[in-house]
Amino acid sequence: MPDKPHDYCGIFGAFNHPDAAILTYYGLHALQHRGQESAGIVTSIFDEQHNRPSMPMHKDFGLVLNVFDDKNIFTKKLKGSAAIGHNRYSTSGSSENPSNIQPFRVHYRGGNLALGHNGNLTNARSLRERFTQEGVLFQSTSDTELILHLISHSKKSNQIDQIVDAVSQITGAYCLVILTDDKLIAVRDPNGFRPLALGQKDGAWFVASETCAFDINDIDYIRDIEPGEILIIDRKTVDTGEMTSIKIPAQKNTSSSGCIFEFVYFSRPDSRVFGENVDKVRRRIGRQLAHEHRLSSFLKHTNDRQPIIISVPDSSNTAAIGYANESQKLGEDCRFEIGLIRNHYVGRTFISPGQESRDLKVRTKFNTVRGVLENRPVIIVDDSIVRGTTSRHLVKMIRKANPSEVHFLASSPPIIEPCYYGMDFPSPEELIANVYDRDINKIAESLGVDSLHYLSPRGLVDAVKRANPSTMEYCTACFTGDYPVPVTSGVDKEENELV
Ligand code: SF4
Repeated sequence: MPDKPHDYCGIFGAFNHPDAAILTYYGLHALQHRGQESAGIVTSIFDEQHNRPSMPMHKDFGLVLNVFDDKNIFTKKLKGSAAIGHNRYSTSGSSENPSNIQPFRVHYRGGNLALGHNGNLTNARSLRERFTQEGVLFQSTSDTELILHLISHSKKSNQIDQIVDAVSQITGAYCLVILTDDKLIAVRDPNGFRPLALGQKDGAWFVASETCAFDINDIDYIRDIEPGEILIIDRKTVDTGEMTSIKIPAQKNTSSSGCIFEFVYFSRPDSRVFGENVDKVRRRIGRQLAHEHRLSSFLKHTNDRQPIIISVPDSSNTAAIGYANESQKLGEDCRFEIGLIRNHYVGRTFISPGQESRDLKVRTKFNTVRGVLENRPVIIVDDSIVRGTTSRHLVKMIRKANPSEVHFLASSPPIIEPCYYGMDFPSPEELIANVYDRDINKIAESLGVDSLHYLSPRGLVDAVKRANPSTMEYCTACFTGDYPVPVTSGVDKEENELV
């Protein structure tokens, strides 16, 4: 398992564009960081030959560029002016099952329907037990399939009512893109755990997990899909600009709780999520870190060389810049430097078994700029420490460049609990904060640094709220154990697998 949390998916939808599938392809390409195991696109078209609506689909394991490496996929197969796409990250077991690759496409009494899902349902187990009792046969091990069964089993006659009925019965984190024969439907759960944005270009409408998927297509961002909103885009939207917006019938906990980790690490810094630019929020988090952990409070000053702040590229670049700038404003003598270089072309390298392999894995991804680090106090700013494996090997690598002292700052609090809302963490006993009973000195010793400092949970929320003055509230459960939606029926990745 990689040593960073992973989200399960990125989603994209297009309506009323002659190149819907191609724009979806580029959107998925921009969202590749949200899932690298598989990718898929479904389009909607009227099949003249058979005189019926049709939904061509292409999906496979691999990166977007590999899955769609033949232009005939677009010119001959994925025709139509509406499309949805999905990037998936999955756990190792389920990643072997091709049935789990999204979008899912079905034909039922309401017509054709395709669905892409980003998130994790917290009542997946009880729903699956209910359907199993009813004799339903499952084709995948994904909780996303449950949503399709809820739609097809709904007693409502109208397709939109069936979808409303279905999402009223699911809990947890879900952003959905749904394609029907004549509509694109976007749904965001009442807590708004994951981001979902609405965009427009040349009379066509789009939805995407992050706005970087709009930028690559020159699509204008219009607004976020609201927590608890079902947004229906159809012919009327194209003709008049009007959209039907339905509120998901009230569920017990309806206050928002956007995943704060989207700002810490997961979303791209050039994206706008939860109504604010990620770069701006991440810099603010770095500034907060500078106030909580002044350089002068922990530096040993074993020589008179100017301390340098380095990031672990790319995810902590902006937080590190925020930390360095604010530290300077606070009168600390320091500067930001590029001390680590990341190789962006790593892909899946073959690593031989054995202790040396972890070192090698880090070395294939990063290298130090020795001249920058040598004989200087070095302050590493990273977004998070999960198991600590990568951090430990990075520190080892940096030590070889002979810095005078090495300190580690995390722009998030210690991760102590699992995520039940669509982010994949190692099990709690593997988390470094738990391994060392949350003893910061012991964790620092294990990482091989002179000192270690985390941002406080309160400081993280304050920084995010100051940077994003919207009314959004945030989930911090992996740092605090304070889960905004109760987990009632088992949703960890093993339990989501059918046995
Ligand atoms: S538990 Fe952590 S990763 Fe999961 S939604 Fe909450 S803040 Fe995000």
